[in-house]
Amino acid sequence: MDATLESSSSPEKLFRTTEEALRFSLNYSLYQQGRALADRLATPAGRKGKGLSGSDGAAQAGMLRRFFDGSTDADYARRLWAWAKTVFTKKEIEQIEAADKNGIIFLEEARRAHAVEQELDQLTTVERAVIVARFALRSLPCHCGRACCAGHRPNPEWEAAIRDVTQAALVSLSGHLSHALVRRKLVEEVFGVKVNLQQLADKASVNKNTVTAHRKIIRVWLSGQKAQPAKGKREAVLAVEGVEAAARLKLDRMLSYLDFIGDE
Ligand SMILES: [Zn+2]
Repeated sequence: MDATLESSSSPEKLFRTTEEALRFSLNYSLYQQGRALADRLATPAGRKGKGLSGSDGAAQAGMLRRFFDGSTDADYARRLWAWAKTVFTKKEIEQIEAADKNGIIFLEEARRAHAVEQELDQLTTVERAVIVARFALRSLPCHCGRACCAGHRPNPEWEAAIRDVTQAALVSLSGHLSHALVRRKLVEEVFGVKVNLQQLADKASVNKNTVTAHRKIIRVWLSGQKAQPAKGKREAVLAVEGVEAAARLKLDRMLSYLDFIGDE
């Protein structure tokens, strides 16, 4: 229901593009994990966490502040609180109320992240996975202080997404003997991880040509390819729509109904 929350003075569009909304939502929930509500209210996640939404976080908070300052729409606030009651406990609601302006900004951020999450949940496993692999952070800062700490730890949600895509990639590689590590690394490469093909081939004890051939198959499956006319010895190539572009198209259509995304 929250996705259709309407207002006579419609809320300021927080995100110009669905991409911004996706980045925000996926990483918002990440930073909320394990944080006490009081802490979240004092410094809502959208504003903190370097590399999360960066300065955008502050800009978003500023926009929300202006929206609520300028809004005389009591009805809007009433519906926001009604939404809050469906996701927070009574005790949490009291805490949020006590936080006053921060509380209402926190609520609006939570509502927006939640609305995007709900749309993501409508996607198939592989569609959702390619979106998460593209927009969620690969790793999170770690402050554990252990001697072995590299200062960051992997984001389990991103890792799960890569696992799902790697699993689904098996279908595109049917008929090929596919090494699990090779498949996984080639999928990771599509989503921005640097991969040394020769080292990967050595590690998996497969021929580098095999790695290169599988790389092509996985890339076409995920990222698609443009049609090419026949030229010389090369045969004509048909256009293929990649899994990622298809998922984005579907999700963008769904997100376009949300009241807080788009130019206005
Ligand atoms: Zn650590």
